[in-house]
Amino acid sequence: MSDTGFTEDQKRWLQGFVSGANAARTARGLPGIGGPAPGAAASSAPAATGPARGPDALHHAAMARFEAAGRKLSPQEIAKRDEHPHDAYARLKAEARTGRFPKPMDDFRWRFHGLYFVGPAQNAFMCRLRIPNGILSHWQFRAVAAIADRWGGGYAHATTRSNLQIREIAAEHGPALIEALAMAGLTPKGSGADNIRNVTGSPTAGIDPDELIDTRPHALDWHMHVLESRTLHGLPRKFNVAFDGGGRVAVLEETNDIAFQAVAVRDGFGVEPGIWYRLALGGITGHKDFARDTGVVVRPEDATAVADAIVRVFIEHGDRTDRTKARFKYVLDAFGFDRTLQLVEAALGRPLTRVPAEAIGPRRPIDRFAHVGVHRQAQPGLNWLGVVLPVGRMTTAQMHGLADIAATFGDGDIRLTVWQNLLVSGIPDAMVAAATARLAALGLTHEASSIRAGLVACTGSRGCKFAAADTKGDALAIAEALDGRIALDQPVNIHLTGCHHSCAQHFIGDIGLIATRVALDATGEDTVDGYHIHVGGGFAERAAIAREIFPATPSSEAPARIESLLIAWLGHRTSADESFQA
Ligand code: SF4
Repeated sequence: MSDTGFTEDQKRWLQGFVSGANAARTARGLPGIGGPAPGAAASSAPAATGPARGPDALHHAAMARFEAAGRKLSPQEIAKRDEHPHDAYARLKAEARTGRFPKPMDDFRWRFHGLYFVGPAQNAFMCRLRIPNGILSHWQFRAVAAIADRWGGGYAHATTRSNLQIREIAAEHGPALIEALAMAGLTPKGSGADNIRNVTGSPTAGIDPDELIDTRPHALDWHMHVLESRTLHGLPRKFNVAFDGGGRVAVLEETNDIAFQAVAVRDGFGVEPGIWYRLALGGITGHKDFARDTGVVVRPEDATAVADAIVRVFIEHGDRTDRTKARFKYVLDAFGFDRTLQLVEAALGRPLTRVPAEAIGPRRPIDRFAHVGVHRQAQPGLNWLGVVLPVGRMTTAQMHGLADIAATFGDGDIRLTVWQNLLVSGIPDAMVAAATARLAALGLTHEASSIRAGLVACTGSRGCKFAAADTKGDALAIAEALDGRIALDQPVNIHLTGCHHSCAQHFIGDIGLIATRVALDATGEDTVDGYHIHVGGGFAERAAIAREIFPATPSSEAPARIESLLIAWLGHRTSADESFQA
C-alpha cells in the first residue's frame, strides 16, 4: 500500500481491510487490491475448487470433476467461477456510469441481474422481469409502465413465460431501472442466463370454475425459494418450472424442465386420495422434447422441496463443457428416469410417492379461447376479461389504461398468460360493458379471430441479435392477410420464432415458423427474411412436435403458403373437430 499520509493506526486498519478483501478475492480467482494478495497467484488463475463450502460449493465441485476428467469448461462456466455474477452488481453500476455496454462475459454476467445487451438490433439493454404465476397488481403494472416511459422505449412486451420485458434502455439507465423495479416490489434477478426462469402458473388461478388447485401459493413459494438461495443460481444452463392448476387456460407446462400438473388421485392406490401435482420432467421443445410423466405425485405443499432436489441433481450432473448439451434433458437422457429419480430422492432425503397411471383422473379439457374474451369466474357474478395484445406488444399509454381498468372495474389484478396476452379479473357482470368500452378506447380488444387468438411471435430482428427475420412484423402481416379471407371454426395456433432458441415454441404450433435467411439465387449472396414452415404441432392432450413442410420460404410468400395449408386442411378433414395433429 502506498504511503498517502495515513496515521500508523489508519495504515494498520487499512492493511487488515485490504488483506481480508484480498482473501475473498483470491478465493474467486481475482487479482488482489493493491497488488497480489498473500498466497495469490500473480496471474488470473482459476479459483481454487478444493473443499469449498458455502452456496457455490456444489457448482465448484461439479466444475472440478469435469476438469479432473480432462474436460475443458465452457467460457461461461469459467466466468461464473471467476466472479459470481451476483457479486458483480457494483461493477455493473460503475460500468453503467461510463455509458458503455458490457463486453461479452460481462454481458453474460449482467443477465443474472436481468439486463440483456441486445445490440446490434437495438444497441440497448432489454430488461426481463420475474412475475410469479404471471400475476401482478394494477399499481405494479402501472409502475412498470412508468419505468418503461422514463428509462425504456415507451412500451413493453408480454412474453411466452407470462412475463414482461422493457426494451431500449440506455447503458447508463440499467441500474436505475433495476432499482426502480425493486421500489415497486418487482425484480429481474435471475431472469436471464443460467438461472431458473420466471415461474409460470395457471393465469386463472383462484378464479377458474374448472381448476383443481390454485397454483399461486406454490408458484410464489418456489419464486421466493429461488430468489433466496444463491445455490439455485448459476446452473449449467437455464431451467424452467411451471404449475398447471387443471383449469381452462393452458400454461404449456409440458414444455418446462419441471411440470407440476394438478391431478385428482383416486382412492384405493395406497396414497391419500385428493389433489396432488403429477411430476413430469425434461420438457424443452426447442430440442423436440415434451416433459414426460415420471409416475411420481407430489403433495402441493412439497413442490418446492421436490423442485429444489431436482435442481440440485442438475447442478451436480449437468454438462459444464458443452452448452448445447447442458440442459436438464441431457441428464435425463444420460441417466434415464429411474436413476435420475433415485438421485432426486437422495437429494431430498426421502422417497418420492409413485402411483400407477390408473390412479389419476383425466384432466378437464382446455378451452383454446379462454385467454381472450369475457368468461365467467368461479365466483358468482364475476368475470375475467382476456385482452388481445397483438404479438404481445403494448404502449405505456395502453398499460396505464389497462391498470385503470383493473383498478376501476376489476379486482385490481393483471394476469399475464403464456399466449402473450393478459387477463383482467374480478369484473362484475354489470361492469363488463364499461370495461370493454374502456379497452376499445385504448385501441385494444377482447375479441380475436381464430388466427389472432393463437398468434405467438418472439422478439425477432427488431430487438434480438439472433433473429433471422422480423417475426413480430411477419406475424401481424400473416394475420392481416388471412383475417376475413378464410373462415375457421376453431383456433389455429401460428407460432413464429426467430432462431433455434425457439422462444415462441414453433414446434408446438399447429403451424410453426422458424426464421432463416433465404437465398435469392444460386450464388447465395443476396438473402431475404424467410421461414421453414412446419405443421402438426400441439400441446396438452394434443401434444405433438411439428414437422417441416415448406423449407426456406421468403417472408413475403408465407401468408399465401399458410392460406393454402388452411384451405387444404378445411377441405380434407373428416369432421369439424379434426385438428392439425390428426
Ligand atoms: Fe431471439 Fe431467437 Fe429467442 Fe427469437 S427465438 S427472441 S430470435 S433468441
